[in-house]
Amino acid sequence: MKQTRKFMSLSLVMMMVLLALAACGKNTAGTNAGGSSAAPTATPTATPAASVAPSASPSGGTTASGAKLEEIKKRGKLVAGVKFDTKLFGLKDPITNKVEGFDIDIAKALAKKIFGDESKLELKEVTSQTRIPMLNNGDIDMIIATMTINEERKQQVDFTDVYFKAGQSLLVKKGSPIKSIADVKKGTKVLGAKGSTSVKNIKEKAPECEVLEFANYQDAFTALKAGQGDVLTTDNAILYGMMKQDPNYVVVGDNFTDEPYGIAIKKGQTEFVTYVNAFLKEIKDNGTYDKTYEQWIGEKPKK
Ligand code: GLU
Repeated sequence: MKQTRKFMSLSLVMMMVLLALAACGKNTAGTNAGGSSAAPTATPTATPAASVAPSASPSGGTTASGAKLEEIKKRGKLVAGVKFDTKLFGLKDPITNKVEGFDIDIAKALAKKIFGDESKLELKEVTSQTRIPMLNNGDIDMIIATMTINEERKQQVDFTDVYFKAGQSLLVKKGSPIKSIADVKKGTKVLGAKGSTSVKNIKEKAPECEVLEFANYQDAFTALKAGQGDVLTTDNAILYGMMKQDPNYVVVGDNFTDEPYGIAIKKGQTEFVTYVNAFLKEIKDNGTYDKTYEQWIGEKPKK
């Protein structure tokens, strides 16, 4: 009898130890998954495993007035979807792990407006292809990521007013015979990013060329440098960033599209769009916008 009791209590202790170990394992996995959203090489379909906070707003388009802003304030930080691969707009330094650029400074200024503190901001990496699904999944509060406002996207998300005016252009190796869009012909290999307007536009403007699509802009640029294509196409401002990274590459020809950038917000949060529009007007009026523009783009913004 004594023996049986001893055996039973021993197995109980063992079971508890096993349970505790299992719980530990789960915690570790959860933390890693949450942290992985910052990986600069996210695949187009990847979304961070852990969302920031359970959404307080009701699902669909029935969000009460101002509910989104309240949710952000309660959480204590703004979660912005930004590029990690785009010099001048949002680029993650692999050594310091800092993400910097024009879009990042806009996000910081908005965090400052909401909290009085620009550091109350979490930056999550999006690519051209992952940004809309991540917004609509509730992983991020907004997209500030070189995103063109267009009719097709307006079916899926709402946009603020235009905060940056870009246009599509071409990047080639110095000395390339390609001087403008007219030289992009049958047999020309054009590199671009999946989910961007750039790849769609080039297929319309030069339907005979061959388009190779990459998960992000650094991969596309690496491919250009490796000779996998003749030309890389996207917005001029993004291409200027690449020129800065490697002066052996130059932007050629005029812009052949208009790419007005907007901040994307999940549908049904019209009060929040109004709030962000008021913020954009405020930073334009108080000089913050021009200062940021000159810092990253190096010239005065075109009015
Ligand atoms: N502005 C274009 C777009 O929204 C190209 C830049 C990008 O891929 O983010 O698709």
